[in-house]
Amino acid sequence: MNNDKKMNKIFTMFMAILVLGTGITSCSWQNEKVQRPNILFIMTDDHTQQALYAYGHGLVDSVLFPNMDRLAKEGAIFQQSFVTNSICAPSRAVMLTGKYSHINGKIDNFVPFNWDQQNFPKLMQQAGYQTALIGKIHLAGKPQGFDYSMVLPGQGHYYNPEFIKNGGEEIKFEGHSTSLITQFVVDWLENEWDRSKPFTLLYHTKAPHRNWMPEAKYLDFLEDIEFDFPGNFFDDYQGRGSAAREQEMEIVNHMYWGQDMKFENNPLAGEPLGKEAPFGRMTEEQLADWRAVYNLKNEAFLKEIPEDKYGLFFVPHSRSFSPDFLQETTEGLKLAKFMYHRYLRDYLKTVKAVDDGIGKVLDFLEKENLLENTVVVYTSDQGFFLGEHGWFDKRFMYEQSLSTPLLVRYPKEIKAGSEVNELVLNLDIAPSLLDYAGIAKPEDMQGESWRGLAAGKKVLWRDAIYYHYYEYPSVHMVKRHYGVRTDRYKLIHFYYDVNEWEMYDLVEDPNEMNNIYGKPAYTEVQAMLHARLDELRLQYGDSDKLSQKFLKEFLEKTKN
Ligand code: CA
Repeated sequence: MNNDKKMNKIFTMFMAILVLGTGITSCSWQNEKVQRPNILFIMTDDHTQQALYAYGHGLVDSVLFPNMDRLAKEGAIFQQSFVTNSICAPSRAVMLTGKYSHINGKIDNFVPFNWDQQNFPKLMQQAGYQTALIGKIHLAGKPQGFDYSMVLPGQGHYYNPEFIKNGGEEIKFEGHSTSLITQFVVDWLENEWDRSKPFTLLYHTKAPHRNWMPEAKYLDFLEDIEFDFPGNFFDDYQGRGSAAREQEMEIVNHMYWGQDMKFENNPLAGEPLGKEAPFGRMTEEQLADWRAVYNLKNEAFLKEIPEDKYGLFFVPHSRSFSPDFLQETTEGLKLAKFMYHRYLRDYLKTVKAVDDGIGKVLDFLEKENLLENTVVVYTSDQGFFLGEHGWFDKRFMYEQSLSTPLLVRYPKEIKAGSEVNELVLNLDIAPSLLDYAGIAKPEDMQGESWRGLAAGKKVLWRDAIYYHYYEYPSVHMVKRHYGVRTDRYKLIHFYYDVNEWEMYDLVEDPNEMNNIYGKPAYTEVQAMLHARLDELRLQYGDSDKLSQKFLKEFLEKTKN
């Protein structure tokens, strides 16, 4: 029997079990014949689809991350996977609760998250799962819904980080956060997990969040590889509204020489970059490894820049170089190339260790004969710009930050190499994982389960997604906006200090350079998108009134 036939047979048998046990969502899991799967929910921070070979964006032209690509090869890749609010903590709140930010209350990184509300780990715990949260969650307060938690406080640190075990005191560990988190995951599986119960394990890394500090063994990774700039790296932001022009997330103009570019001293004045520098937490040994790689390269770069340009180049933050200067002058291009490569390589270096970690955990499950009965989900809390539009960071409803990787491996149901093209959201994570666990979705959860889609079934599915971003005025200065995206079009409304609409045809203009809002050729599409946006806002309970309420609270809180 070839593999496909074998898979089909297994799949048919599984479906038969499903059909026989129609009461599966409520109590038939108690029947020992139905073995509930374990759930391994892996999430990285700011890992974007462009960095994964499986997504075929072309930025990386080979498999740099074999274990992530293994998940795509052996499971399903979701080609149209998005978030509802592209920023760290709010995205995590959406995933835990299955509710939009305006419902779960965590609209931005500032307001506290209410752990008392319903979340999917609580429901799994009640249904007899053993639950654990290990790594970054970025939601203050003792995590609820977990039999065990080992989390970084807030953003946490890459080097020698503190962790909080089960809501207790912070404990400092020597080492790198990615390796430590992976080790805690394996330790939990080996020593804490009660094998009489299925597990739900949230394995959440800090990497590749800013400021992209690789571990020692990957300091050299990709240092010899030259990357092409994305086609719109030197974007002049014409043809769009003020939001794209007024953001503060340009690699060249808004990164710091210390924390982002890894200079120990300011080249301009020679003084240490102090708090801005990332080196303060390292041991002497760690720092020596670090210096051996970065200092030589930094010095070589400085030699290429005429000293009379230092005053212009090495201000700490907020330079204002035009795309013409960067593209067309020798020094400008050198600056852009250096900053882009330092950023991109460091970002990918931190992903590399995450990939190793995933491999280690998958190997452990395989060795213990647990892998086939474990649903493995890989995602990130949002996407990220890797130089598209000249940017880093996220927040915008533009494609790179709106999307997020989603890979799911569960060979009992999912054919290897499956592709899902429906529009899914991080809102769907909670209902989907509950579905695998055989737990009915609570009525007030707003997402939908993609379990059927992953298994290749025809499912009546949404034709559009709704998005809303709130954190402005704040770091990176991305204006408040909400919008709708269908499989082809996108409509965005920027509000508060502006009232601007943008619309994109993603087939004609995949890089979103040309705002077609108000163009006569698109009158009908525009009307359709407006109608769909109104319907979705009504369906999910969002409104201008709520936006005003959140805005007022935000301004109160941030006025000092
Ligand atoms: Ca994030």
